[in-house]
Amino acid sequence: MRLVICHLYPDIMNLYGDRGNVIALDRRARWHGLEPVVVPVSLGDAPDFEKFDLIFMGGGQDREQGLITADLLQAKGPGIKAAVEAGVPLLAICGAYQLLGHYYRTFAGEVLPGLGLFDVRTEAGPTRIIGDVLAESKLSGESRTLVGFENHSGRTFLGPGAVPLGRVLVGGGNNGRDGTEGAVYRNALGTYLHGSLLPKNPWLADYLLGRAVERRRGGVRLARLDDALEDMAHRAAAPGAARRRGGGGGLLGFF
Ligand code: GLN
Repeated sequence: MRLVICHLYPDIMNLYGDRGNVIALDRRARWHGLEPVVVPVSLGDAPDFEKFDLIFMGGGQDREQGLITADLLQAKGPGIKAAVEAGVPLLAICGAYQLLGHYYRTFAGEVLPGLGLFDVRTEAGPTRIIGDVLAESKLSGESRTLVGFENHSGRTFLGPGAVPLGRVLVGGGNNGRDGTEGAVYRNALGTYLHGSLLPKNPWLADYLLGRAVERRRGGVRLARLDDALEDMAHRAAAPGAARRRGGGGGLLGFF
């Protein structure tokens, strides 16, 4: 089965190795016997988003977010929303996640309107939230950990229609206050975790791939891959998060 991955703004939105998520999706899709094709989609492009099997958009600083906001809203917004309503899985990191909420207000007071796909709003704070993150998510039906790296001034607050992707065990997550991390709407996921996220959290990559395959083929389940190396990478990222908490001897019990 061909698996068409849309990489949104690869030339503009790519921070802290976010592009590695697309490489991980491509590679794991091949290991699962699929035929992945990555389609870059950038300024001025207006493809039929429902033809894609998976949509990815990486993070960007305020400047990059400003460059794409109008294009995202006008050329792509309705198509992306329709695709997500039709069940297309989507992963948006940090600056992308913010722009898929209602708005991002920069610290200078400029408001960048978002798609409103997630019922979240983001206000920049006076300090940046930076460091390794350890979070717990029950997205796949069982409790799994996520490791990643965050660097954002935005504080994202969930509205009543938003479900968090997980809760932070170490790190700031959505806003550094309420313990939530990211958001989920249908098969669309928003998160603050860079890193790249998917190579170190293979279960999440397979969750997205599984949703994409299920949409085309119903009932088909992906086989489990040998993730010994990926699990080592996951475990190796944890001490950074543990140090951020200041010690963390007990943390390793999570893995
Ligand atoms: N500009 C946003 C912020 O600082 C997003 C940064 C990012 O994508 N890492 O909150």
